[in-house]
Amino acid sequence: MKLMENVYLIGSGKMGFGISDPGDCHVYLVSDGNDGAIIDAGYGPESPAIINNIRKEGIDPDCISKLILTHCHGDHSGAGAYLVKELGIEAISPKGSKEWLEQGDEDSINLTRARAAGRYPDDYRFQTFHVTREVDEGDTILVGSLKLETYSTPGHANPHNSYLLRQDGKTYLFSGDLVFEGGEVVLNWAPETSPWLLGQSLNKFRDFGVNGLFPGHHSISLEYGQAHIDAALAKFDTLTVPRNMMT
Ligand SMILES: [Zn+2]
Repeated sequence: MKLMENVYLIGSGKMGFGISDPGDCHVYLVSDGNDGAIIDAGYGPESPAIINNIRKEGIDPDCISKLILTHCHGDHSGAGAYLVKELGIEAISPKGSKEWLEQGDEDSINLTRARAAGRYPDDYRFQTFHVTREVDEGDTILVGSLKLETYSTPGHANPHNSYLLRQDGKTYLFSGDLVFEGGEVVLNWAPETSPWLLGQSLNKFRDFGVNGLFPGHHSISLEYGQAHIDAALAKFDTLTVPRNMMT
């Protein structure tokens, strides 16, 4: 599904548009036609629908060079091994997560607790893959002629990154599970979760004028992204926590 020039939605499960595995987060493709990067992998362990969706857009999967993760939760990273192997691409993840992904540390990626809570089937296991690069605040990732700027945005998970694309004078934020439609957030009861850090992460985008907000689930905004960020910040500003989407 083409969202705008150079940006496609190639995977999305039941908390989205239903174009791939039900457990998938939104899986985006950023491509200038010569190079491409997939942002978040989806649930896995296999995701042929995602590769089919790339072809349906008339894009040759061979032009894709990278998988970039916002964070390590299974619905965002679980298909990483499959995509890295099938497409022969490199994987880039937030600083501090390489070892977890390469060793399959299910405690650190919160999969053990999420599985016990019934969010994943009992037999769901994380498939490991090699991470070629970790990125942190201020790092840039080149995708052909396009440039993604890295923002460290922990709170929902730690580490957690968001990636900003500037195009035609506008800003587009691939925000993972940072914030959702109407300023909702996802705060799990887990050691990696912190409302304090989440508020600080969102504060990086105060008065930023974000146009496109491309989150990990639910609605996407092509123009009014800042309104959703502002709605969450308005709650934090009164020392309360935005509405939790998972209630
Ligand atoms: Zn998550």
